[in-house]
Amino acid sequence: NKQVTLRDYVSGFPKESDMYVTTGTVKLKVTEGSNAVLVKNLYLSCDPYMLDLMRPTTSLDATYFAPFKPGSPIAGYGVAKVLDSAHPNFKKGDLVRGVTGWEEYSLIAETDFLFKIEHTDVPLSYYTGILGMPGMTAYAGFYEVCSPKKGEYVFISAASGAVGQLVGQFAKLLGCFVVGSAGSKEKVDLLKNKFGFDDAFNYKEELDLDAALKRYFPEGIDIYFENVGGKTLDAVLLNMRTHGRISVCGMISQYNLDEPEGVKNLMDLVYKRIHMQGFVVTDYYHLYPNFLDTVLPGIRDGKIVYVEDIAEGLESGPAALVGLFSGRNVGKQLVVVARE
Ligand code: NDP
Repeated sequence: NKQVTLRDYVSGFPKESDMYVTTGTVKLKVTEGSNAVLVKNLYLSCDPYMLDLMRPTTSLDATYFAPFKPGSPIAGYGVAKVLDSAHPNFKKGDLVRGVTGWEEYSLIAETDFLFKIEHTDVPLSYYTGILGMPGMTAYAGFYEVCSPKKGEYVFISAASGAVGQLVGQFAKLLGCFVVGSAGSKEKVDLLKNKFGFDDAFNYKEELDLDAALKRYFPEGIDIYFENVGGKTLDAVLLNMRTHGRISVCGMISQYNLDEPEGVKNLMDLVYKRIHMQGFVVTDYYHLYPNFLDTVLPGIRDGKIVYVEDIAEGLESGPAALVGLFSGRNVGKQLVVVARE
């Protein structure tokens, strides 16, 4: 059973060598009466939060996220096929989504975060992205946190990623004016030509982010979907409109810094009566059925599209995961272990 194992706790920027691929063993049969499920892993999701679980201490909610242990395989969201089951809700042949190991086969004893996939007419890999945790994040962070209205001015950072590309499409479908920032020309082109953003720019080419935002939003920003933090947040605060909303999804530019960047313009929250709210997607998982009702028809009729960056094989997993922090991924990063 090939596995991606954590070498040691990680400090600062993660490196590919912080993980290694090894061969372990797995019992290929479940014990009757145990409630366990044996799965063959198909697609594994690469998500920024996984880095936090590699640190000696984590701020993530322990109910949902077990810290990784050096010398043990890492785990995350994935799509898998049931090979054997002692659990009444799962049977051999079922396709499932949920938390699984970064390995070929997993014996899952804790099935609270495992769900049967009911709709298989869309690509299965979508259940790591647009139909999985990142998709739910876009849905909850936009509709539940931002209280968006037609015609509003929306800005999204890390806009071409797993979450951002969907937030932008939700905002367009609602009739908002949407601009995104991303870190390369290829990503900017995707935002404008594939996801239908009204405009987009490469933040690495803008020496003055405040001036750039004034160019794209001469009347200011109503909604900021925050994925990166730091300098971007500071420039956005200067450009928010009165009664604007900031949905704080993440601050990826800050995760690997010893000293987080100070944000200087927080008083703008006061002057402009801005509502700034952090959120964690797990609080909204009960909305999954509503989310599916919104997104599945959009995928089926082509009104919602999704770009994936698929790394082949478990061996490519460490580089794919670490690549999130340098922007190597174009779209939702995932790893394919097996296709069936
Ligand atoms: P992405 O698919 O967007 O991948 C990460 C992207 O972040 C990279 O491709 C890169 O894009 C950008 N990035 C990396 N480093 C920096 C940096 N130093 N400065 C600016 N941008 C950077 O990831 P996700 O869509 O999965 O996640 C987006 C955000 O949402 C993250 O902050 C994540 O932590 C957060 N999140 C929060 C959840 C919640 O419950 N609150 C749940 C899921 C995700 P580029 O080339 O454009 O710079």
